[in-house]
Amino acid sequence: MNWYSKSTDSVISELGTNRSTGLTNTEASQRIDSYGPNEIAQNKSKSAIAMFLESFKEPLIIILMVAVTIAFLSSIYEFNSGNSEHAVASLYEAVAILIIIFINGGLTFHQTRSAQKSLDALRDMRQPHLNVLRDGSWSSIPTDELVPGDIVSVKSGDFIEGDMRFFKTAELQVDESQLTGESEAVDKTIDALADDTELADRTNMGFSGSMVVNGNGIGVIVATGMETELGKIADLMASSDDQKTPIEKSVSDLSKKLMLIAGGIIVFTVGFELTKQFMNMGRITISDIAGISSTAIAIAVASIPDAMPVVLSIVLTVGAKLLAKSKGLVKSLSSVETLGATTYIASDKTGTLTKNEMTVTRFYANRKRFYVEGNGYTPVGDILDEDCKVVEGDSDYRRFFEIAALNNEAEIKPDENQNWRPFGNPTDVSLVVMAQKAGITRDRLMEKETDRDIDVLRVIPFDSTRKMMTVVIKEDDQFYSLTKGAPDVVATKTTSALVDGKQVDYSEVTAEVDQTILDFADDALRTIALTQRPITEDEALHGSAEELEQDLCFLGIAGIIDPPREEVKAAISKLDGAAVKVVMITGDHAATAKAIAKRLGIIKDDHAEVVVGNEIEAMSDDELKSKVLDTRVYARVSPEHKQRIVKQLQREHQVVGMTGDGINDAPALKAADIGIAMGINGTEVTKDAADLILLDDKFTTIEASVESGRTIFSNILNFMRHELTTNVAEVLSLLLGVVLINTTVGEVSAVTPTLTALMVLWVNMVSDSMPSFALGYDEAEADMMTSAPRDTKQSILANGMLRRVLFRGSVMGGLVFVAFLWAAANGYSIAESQTIAFLTLVFGQLWHVYDARSAKTLFDRNPFSNSRLTFAVGFAATSSVLVTLIPFFNEVMGTAPLTVSLYLGIIIISAIPTFIISGIKKMITK
Ligand code: ADP
Ligand code: MG
Repeated sequence: MNWYSKSTDSVISELGTNRSTGLTNTEASQRIDSYGPNEIAQNKSKSAIAMFLESFKEPLIIILMVAVTIAFLSSIYEFNSGNSEHAVASLYEAVAILIIIFINGGLTFHQTRSAQKSLDALRDMRQPHLNVLRDGSWSSIPTDELVPGDIVSVKSGDFIEGDMRFFKTAELQVDESQLTGESEAVDKTIDALADDTELADRTNMGFSGSMVVNGNGIGVIVATGMETELGKIADLMASSDDQKTPIEKSVSDLSKKLMLIAGGIIVFTVGFELTKQFMNMGRITISDIAGISSTAIAIAVASIPDAMPVVLSIVLTVGAKLLAKSKGLVKSLSSVETLGATTYIASDKTGTLTKNEMTVTRFYANRKRFYVEGNGYTPVGDILDEDCKVVEGDSDYRRFFEIAALNNEAEIKPDENQNWRPFGNPTDVSLVVMAQKAGITRDRLMEKETDRDIDVLRVIPFDSTRKMMTVVIKEDDQFYSLTKGAPDVVATKTTSALVDGKQVDYSEVTAEVDQTILDFADDALRTIALTQRPITEDEALHGSAEELEQDLCFLGIAGIIDPPREEVKAAISKLDGAAVKVVMITGDHAATAKAIAKRLGIIKDDHAEVVVGNEIEAMSDDELKSKVLDTRVYARVSPEHKQRIVKQLQREHQVVGMTGDGINDAPALKAADIGIAMGINGTEVTKDAADLILLDDKFTTIEASVESGRTIFSNILNFMRHELTTNVAEVLSLLLGVVLINTTVGEVSAVTPTLTALMVLWVNMVSDSMPSFALGYDEAEADMMTSAPRDTKQSILANGMLRRVLFRGSVMGGLVFVAFLWAAANGYSIAESQTIAFLTLVFGQLWHVYDARSAKTLFDRNPFSNSRLTFAVGFAATSSVLVTLIPFFNEVMGTAPLTVSLYLGIIIISAIPTFIISGIKKMITK
């Protein structure tokens, strides 16, 4: 359809919609049924079976499969050679391992699936919204619900979703580089175009996937989903894979290394045992081989921390879900990790650190200063002079107020309870309220009946780089360009001033104006200068922002209070204690910024340096780098400066979180380690560029997210510490058996493994994995927010982790072996000796889990504060004792019942290493 070559009226009627009321809700829901949701079909997600089979690709499972095969083969062999007792045992072993493989596969599958579901749910929360007209009223709806015929309004910072034909535009510019590769933004128009117009030149159309970089526009949706131009080329776009997070990568690297080590150990074991047996007996029997292969399998199982990858991704996902509950939405799991390591948070001032409830309390006009009374958005309040007397007559400020009302798109309206509600930009709202306190409103100025005839012709919106906003009006027969903006910026474009109705040279008032700006700013007021300029009709209709914003005539300055958010102060001091530095970045005046920063505790004294945008402009990267570590307040900053600040902080090896709301902030957010966007007031473009979206726009949510990030990461470390210690203990206890038992000891032969393969499997998959899983859900350690962030460059094994794991694992493994040897030497049967070793290992680990739970020692945490852990430990202890008592398990696992005193003895003795090592450590570190 050539929508671009038709008149807007025929487009609208062909689509069966209405310019001023939009589609009806019924019509819209019928259309969504017939057209489908407005989304680009992604590659199909994996089928359940494929996901289930995926879990069998894990290295551990492959090894277990080999083990099953060996067990089956030896069972067949023994059966043939008449040794039916051994044959049945081998068969049991094979079947038991198979069952465990399937249970494990099922669990992995289930957990991966539920993690995937929560991720999808989080993704849905990020669905962009657009303003849509339906049944006569505008509302923000998720873009996947758009249908052809919907009337949609877009503004700077929105993504266009669905192809649309514009019928109203104001300075609308759209970046279509996604689609056309053309980086220059396109000016949008509304008139019909020739039939043969190329895609890139269809200036009256908006295309899905492009973004609005300036102005605003209204149009009608003509195509959605795969029918859009973007949909047609969607096949060409690669779908982005789910990236592994840094810690997931290190863990999979670690797993690979462990596999190699395990391979080496197994080869060594088999070789060593064969030689040993041959030297002892002069020959090798099949049952020797069966014993040796059982040991090899046990070692293989023992050496792989199989639960780690699954637990990792689940802990991260659960973390992301918890974060979302506390209003911080993360895009990817790696952000959860990075959040905890953040060292600098550079935050916008307005709206994030402050309430964004702006009120004009002072102004300066006709060379006099005034106070404005009244509270909030209610347009009632007196204008007082410097001596706080009510001012009679408005001659001093009438023009100033008129311009404030006209250079403005905001509104205030009373709701049903007669409370005044703001609509639009908060700065502009404050000016509307100010003017209306003197009875001056835009509507009244533009009313036709009055003696004056005022029309607004153009609006060139505010942007944070120019720091100005300009409106072109026609007043009777004269055209004016009205500019308001940051006073020090506006001053550079100002040549005259209006004093007592006459235009005087600006130099006459400069000193006074500058002093006023400083005085207002020192009182933490945000300042805005208002100007006007008579122009020609041609300039009025075609002049660019740059052409209009010069040679201005100064009218006055408004001082706006924007109170700091109360709760932010506490959040900042908490972050301070956690060695996370909070930096304020604002477009406001240096003095305003400083006054607010001091109230919030970002800076402690008046000597703190404020770096302003112009200075950054003049600095080289290296000069800026030498400043960034110590600077806490940046003022009059443009979005480009933000990116430079991020980069220099990163060169100083800092992990930087950076907030932003406007479209120009997107590059800085992308450059930051954690880009932070506002969920309510942020543009879709910044949300898209961000890693963390604050659903409530609050700074305190950043603090909470950092805290969660740290907790999640330290839980991961605790759990890895525990898992790896178990692996070391298991491997070592088996290896010691191989190397040190070279002759028959009691009933134990030189090739009897310390633990059977199924005992090792039990420990890995039941008695040990449940408690370590519970570690992933622990609450924060008490000192979480009083210690420094972790160093991201350090490997997860650094910081004593490797030493701790090796040391505790060895002590534990040693104890298990000694228990086994003791039992063998005291005439216990093979099964009894192995059971004693098994329970020593199980209980040793259950004691150790409380130690692994802290980066310090087990005495530093309340052992019962994690109820999941208490339950898991209770379950593991009980079930592990039960499998030594129940005949069926005796048969399958090779366990044997023990005496009560032995059980008690094992429980007590296995506690010794943990308590002694922890105790010594506690004494040393105290
Ligand atoms: P921030 O978001 O850090 O408060 P902004 O970029 O919004 O900074 O504003 C920077 C300066 O631009 C303000 O101090 C004010 O002087 C001016 N300004 C802000 N909003 C407007 C507006 N709507 N129209 C004109 N000038 C504005
Ligand atoms: Mg702002």
